Parts: sequence; structure tokens; C-alpha cells
Amino acid sequence: MPSPDLLNHSDLRVPDTATLLTAAVEAIGGAERPGQQRMAEAVERAIASGEHLAAQAGTGTGKSLAYLVPAIRHAVDKDTTVVVSTATIALQRQLVDRDLPRLAEALRPLLGRELKFAILKGRRNYLCLHRVQTGAPDDPEDAGLFDPQQLSALGRQVKRLNEWAEETTTGDRDELVPGVSEQAWRQVSVTARECLGAQRCPQGTSCFAELARAEAGEAHIVVTNHALLAIDALEEFQVLPEHDVVIVDEAHELVDRITSVATGALSGPAGEAAARRCGRLVEDGVADRLKESAEGLAVLLEDLPAGRLDVLPMSLGNTLAAVRDAAHACLTALGGERKDDDPAGMAARKAARSSVEELHDTAVRTLEAFEPEIAARSEVVWLDKPFAGAAATDRPQRPPTLHVAPIGVGGLLRSTLFETRTAVLTSATLTLGGSFEPLARQWGLPPLGESTGRDARTAAEGLAKTAQDPASRDAGAGSGSHRDGGKAAGEDTGDGEPMRWTCLDAGSPFDHPRAGILYVARHLPQPGRDGLPDAYLTEITELIEAAGGRTLGLFSSMRAARQAADELRGHLSHPLLCQGEDSTSLLVKRFAEEERTCLFGTLSLWQGVDVPGPSLQLVIMDRIPFPRPDDPVASARQRAVAARGGNGFMAVAATHAALLLAQGAGRLLRSVTDRGVVAVLDPRLVTARYGGFLKSSLPPFWATTDPAVVRGALQRLDTTASA
Ligand code: SF4
Repeated sequence: MPSPDLLNHSDLRVPDTATLLTAAVEAIGGAERPGQQRMAEAVERAIASGEHLAAQAGTGTGKSLAYLVPAIRHAVDKDTTVVVSTATIALQRQLVDRDLPRLAEALRPLLGRELKFAILKGRRNYLCLHRVQTGAPDDPEDAGLFDPQQLSALGRQVKRLNEWAEETTTGDRDELVPGVSEQAWRQVSVTARECLGAQRCPQGTSCFAELARAEAGEAHIVVTNHALLAIDALEEFQVLPEHDVVIVDEAHELVDRITSVATGALSGPAGEAAARRCGRLVEDGVADRLKESAEGLAVLLEDLPAGRLDVLPMSLGNTLAAVRDAAHACLTALGGERKDDDPAGMAARKAARSSVEELHDTAVRTLEAFEPEIAARSEVVWLDKPFAGAAATDRPQRPPTLHVAPIGVGGLLRSTLFETRTAVLTSATLTLGGSFEPLARQWGLPPLGESTGRDARTAAEGLAKTAQDPASRDAGAGSGSHRDGGKAAGEDTGDGEPMRWTCLDAGSPFDHPRAGILYVARHLPQPGRDGLPDAYLTEITELIEAAGGRTLGLFSSMRAARQAADELRGHLSHPLLCQGEDSTSLLVKRFAEEERTCLFGTLSLWQGVDVPGPSLQLVIMDRIPFPRPDDPVASARQRAVAARGGNGFMAVAATHAALLLAQGAGRLLRSVTDRGVVAVLDPRLVTARYGGFLKSSLPPFWATTDPAVVRGALQRLDTTASA
């Protein structure tokens, strides 16, 4: 029998997913997991039928194999590409450095060919060799960079980047350890709009971004991030290779990542930098007009109060119109590419056009955002003053900046993702309040309630329902239309085809009621606005002492985390670390290595800590993590839902809090032998009307409100761990 490598590939049938999964699990040395098998079958069905799939799979299910194996099968069988998108670098690295190489090795004999995979990011993530060679335009946009100290720090980082350029083989920013500031990176990278294009660039044949794109174009599996998915959807040019299936892992982050990419920013210094870039390329008067309008904007933004803008002040309207018109005049004067431009001249023209275009488009977009009635708006505008209230001696690091963001991204996702390819969305947390619908609505998917009801079993049984969407509505989540052709809530999908999706809860290998306790400190007062009350600090101390340290403190703000750390340090018998005292990864490493050490922090710890074993037996959350009342996007979303007759608080604030609570609680059990307590100090979890929705978003731990019971349990766990 010939070895598989000698077979004619066209003669070789690719085995089914079950066979491939068994081979993969055997080769990797794992055990068969029912949740993993169910998920792999569901992904295979979704790919075959074209129905989108939302699949929740808890920690330890083996989720990545469950989607990679059917994705590989499809890509190899059809000789096509499947895109896998993640939110975090950690997961990207796990897929590219660990899972895919092992799968390629394990499946080669069955596939009869080499599996090709690649990682692809946005152009700004790769070192631009042309810019390294020619230097960046001499126009730092950030006012703070005029500080001599910052400039010399910047110089040192750029020098390091130039040295790194000599040795890197990928130019990938994430491989640079330790990293550099955004300002430094900007000196050696370009946006897609600034790039000269491989044909005209002297470095085109050795360009890192071009090489990564070429490799991705040949790959069966392309791993990317949600930001590039968003850019692919938003830009006119295609950045990802042709693909008919996309797997979105860490899908609970999708809406935030897409919103962030689709958010425009406008500030005086950015306008002045754009004018400087035009300076030598257009007549003085044209660039001066842009400079003056940008200076006018800078002065005005200093005077306006920070926060969401529902009404466009006349002064701002006039200033934005002046910026828009001056930018337009600059663009006309700059013209397109010139045949007689040398590469340096072309790069300067591209850089100028790119920053003026961005300025112009954002000014237009901001003005247009105010045109519809408030209830019908699809975009929200706010003024951000990061250092408002700082002491007079504090040099502002960022200037006052106007932002414009889509209120919902459901319309955009529908038109660019769900209507054009099959999507599998997966995460450990996709059900909130026991349902997939809150997140699905934000993605722009139709409600399951209007489904055919086929296969409608409960989530706990592991199978799901099918939704049919002749005319989807997303009023519940407030997803509105997007500026660039996204369809508004309630519009038909456009081609008459109903949009169908299914969901699956692949379950969890953990026995939550036996392994964990949910303790709600019902006896405590409600959290207030003036920091942590003394009763909270006493409660935290008692819980940590009972647990013998081993505590992850998840606070709703950095201020609360610091207050708790400052007041408890010295009173506790155990070491206490606080986020911000060192890099987060080093703090988490110490926390994992030193069993009795505690770690306090905020948002990134809610989602990013993976510490199995006795170093983490208690997770404390100080309050229900609702968005801040002055959060412009959340408050605008809430209002949009209410305007459509929905419950804005439940659809936006409670959904946001439920997701974070579930993510935070998910830090506790990371292996099947883990045991511990999730302690929520905020009594509203059991006293408020929305408490039931939030509680049902958490893993099904055994629940108590009795502090003596929970302290006893923590002491027993500590004794066992110390034995
Ligand atoms: S092709 Fe674009 S990204 Fe690549 S080196 Fe040239 S200018 Fe830089």
C-alpha cells in the first residue's frame, strides 16, 4: 500500500469528522469528551447546511478541537479557506503554536496532504520595512510627545525597533517582547491607506504584511482577530482571503471589538498633524486653512463639557463644518497618485491623504450623526477628556477628543457576516439568563422565539433550537443600522432568504453544584458611590482569612481595587498584589506560583486569569458590574432600545453585567479537581428584581447567603489544600 503522501489527492476521500476527531484526540493523548463530540457534530452540520451556529462550551470541553476538526475537514475537502477569529492574542497563539501544529501532524495520514495554516492581522500590526528605511513623517500627533522626556523615551524605543527589524522574520508586533508604546510603533508601521502598495513599494517583495497575506491566501485555516474581521467588513478593500465559513471564538467579545474598530475620533492635534503632513505638498493657504480650523476645534473642545452629546452645539457644528471643508480642499489639492512621485514622495502623499481623509470622513460622520431624531439615530457622539479634573501640574497625555460610534453593530454583522457566509460563534459564555438570545440579538440574529421549534430541547440537554428570520427585529438589543449599508433593526435580510441559526450548549466537564459555592453577602448595604464601605472591607478580610489567601479580587473599578489593597495590606496575614503594580502577566504569574498570595484588580482580570489549583479558591466581586451611567455607548444603546418599546436596562446594562459576572465567576474552576467559592458582596444579586436574570447567568453553583457557612467551607478547603 502506498504511503499517504504518494496517493493521488483527488482519489482520497476525506474521512468524516467523527473519524478525524477520534484520531486527533488519540494522537494528542486526550480522552473522548461527549461535549466535544456534540459540538464537532453541530459545527459540521452548520457548515453543511449553511445555518449559523452559536455554541457555548465551558472550560475543559475541548472547544478548539471541536471546531478546528470540522473546519479542517471542510477546508481540505473543498480546497478552500476557513477563517478562525479570536479576541485575544493568548488564544491566537494557542491555536497557531499548539493546536494547529498538533492537528496537522495527527491528521496528515488521514487527510493525505499537508494542512496549511497561517495567522493574519491588520497591516498596522506588521513592521513596515519602507517606513523603517525612510523614517516616519516628522509630525507626532500627540501633544504629550513634545515633552523632551517622552521624546527621548520614544527615541530609545524606535532605536530598539530598528534593531529588531534586522532580526525579525515576521515583523509581527506581538512577537516583540517587551512591547513598545503606540507612538513608537506608529513610527515603523503604516495603515492600509498609507501603504504604497506592493507593486510600487521598493520593499514590496520582502514586506512582512504582504508575505503574511500571501501565506494566508494559500492556507486552509487562517487565524485572525475580531478587529481584522471588522476591518474586512468596514473597508472597501478585501483583507481576508476568500472564505465561506468563519469561526468566531471568544464571541462574547465580538460586539465590543467591532464597535471599537468602527469608532471614529477627532481632535485638534490630529487635525494639526494632518495639516503639517499636507504642508509641503499643497499651497500654503490650503494647508493653513486646515491648520486654523483644527486649532479652532482644539480650543472649542477644551471649553465643552465631557460626555455624550445629544444636541449639536452651534459652535461645534460650525467648527466641524469648517474642518470638513478645509479637509476637502486639501484632498482636492493633494490629488491622487502622481506618476513622477518617487517612493518617498508617494509615501508622503499617501500619509497626508490618509490623515486628511480620516479627518474629513469623521467630521462628516459626526455632523450626520445628529441629523435624525434622537430615537432614530444609529450613531452616538461624545467628548472624551481623559484627564479632566487632573491637577493643573499634570500634563495631559491625550487631548480632548470627539468620538462617534455605531449604537448597534447588528446591522453591520448581518450584512457583512451572516448574509455572506456561514458563521459559528463560540465561547464559554454565550447564554445569559439561561438564553442565547441576549447576545444573538446584539449580533443581529433573529429571535429563537420565532423559530420553527425544530429540535427544541433545553440547553442542559445539549441541543438547541432553530430560528427562522423572515424579517428579523433586534429592538431588544438595540442594534441599529450602521452607517455603511448595514440594515436597520427589523429590516428583511434583503434577498428573501430566511436567516437561520441554531444553538448548542456543549455543557461543562465540571460538577458545579459540588465543586463551587455562590455566596451573596445579603446582609451588606448596597454599594454606594463613595468607595467601598467599611462593612465591605471587613467582609473581604474575613473571607480571605478563612480561605488562607488564595483570593482573586475582581473590582468594578481600579479605584475600588486600589482602595481595598491600600486599606487591607498590613491587616491581612497574606501577601496582596494589586493590578498596576507590575505588568498584569507578571502579577498573575506570581499569584499562580505563590499559593497564599491574593491578587486584586479590575476588568482585564475578570476575563483573562486562568489559574487552576489551590492558588485560587476564592473569587470576590465587589459589585454587580453594570456599565457606568455616563458610558456614552451603553447609555445610547439603552435609550435606543427603550425608544423601540424594549427594556433598555435589561437589554443593555443587565446583559453587560451578566456577561462580566459569568466571566468573573468562570475564573474559579479551571480544572475538574478545582473547588472554591465565588463571593458577590453586592446584595442586589438576590434582592433586586433583575437579580434572577443575573444569577441564572452564573454557573449552577450551590448557593448560600450565610457568611458562617461560607467561611467554614473556605477553612475546610484551605486545610485540604495545605495538607
Ligand atoms: S508594501 Fe506597504 S507595508 Fe509593505 S513595506 Fe511597502 S509601504 Fe510598508
